[in-house]
Amino acid sequence: MKATKILALILALALAVCAFAACGDKANDEDVNTNAQGEQAPEESDTIVMGTQIGFPPFEVFDDNAQPAGFDIDLSNMIADAAGKKLQIENMDFGGLIAAIQSGKIDFSAAGMSVTEERLQSVDFSKPYYSSRQVIVVPADSTIASKEDLLGKKVAVQEGTTGDSMVREFKETDNGEPKDNTVSFKLNADVAMEVLNGRADAFVLDEEPSKAIVAQNEGKLKILDVEFGTEEYAIAVKKGNTELLDIINGVIDQMMSDGTYDAMIAEYFPDRAVEAEGEAPVDGAEGAIDQLAEDVDANADAADTAAADAVAE
Ligand code: GLN
Repeated sequence: MKATKILALILALALAVCAFAACGDKANDEDVNTNAQGEQAPEESDTIVMGTQIGFPPFEVFDDNAQPAGFDIDLSNMIADAAGKKLQIENMDFGGLIAAIQSGKIDFSAAGMSVTEERLQSVDFSKPYYSSRQVIVVPADSTIASKEDLLGKKVAVQEGTTGDSMVREFKETDNGEPKDNTVSFKLNADVAMEVLNGRADAFVLDEEPSKAIVAQNEGKLKILDVEFGTEEYAIAVKKGNTELLDIINGVIDQMMSDGTYDAMIAEYFPDRAVEAEGEAPVDGAEGAIDQLAEDVDANADAADTAAADAVAE
């Protein structure tokens, strides 16, 4: 009798802890549902969870009130609206986003994440919404002037990013250099700090955050005009979540056709708009959209090929 009472107490306590802590967490909710109710689908939640790593300007930053803001945040709000849900943002390491999508901890990522063949094995991507590239950043007085000059030099990268794998691959395969000349960090800011403090010779990051870092450290750094290849940012969802993917692609189509995308480009990339205006006074964002439309097709082809390959295997 006494033992049962104690057991009941422990159970009650566990439930109380659960109510106040981890069980409010979406991932745990799902676990609870599957464990307790077998095949039954998890309860419909009124929130949709987006994962990102804040500190990637101008896509995800903290604004003056320490609130998440930026291009990806705006896009995520549009996605949540279209899904009829409240947006919840989970700030996490970029390198952990794919696993978080796979485990259901987050519903989608909006993190300046580039579509790659490797990631396509683990998640599904929306249509691309931005074309970017990796750039090499060095101290203003550095003699490094080319990609080849990075060989044998210490290069800082952000862990788990395309820049990380590109630098490692370049150093390893083309010239047999040891890859331990590359150091990785979880935050863009730390990657840049390594070069600013003279502990690394260069860093390789996406173009837009690199521009922001160079601007913040006036006169100290320069971006090399060197091609590391272009990449497309897209939203990632759990493999097979076509319901959400359709909503996201609908939002992307809509924003590209109704002027929202142009407005966002003008807001977040003022120098892009100025550059383009210099060439053609019409509308700078239009060229970017045409380019993106081509990229969208190219990406759809790549996705089809990947899908066909997967079927063939
Ligand atoms: N675009 C890069 C990638 O997909 C970096 C993204 C990021 O650091 N947020 O790997």
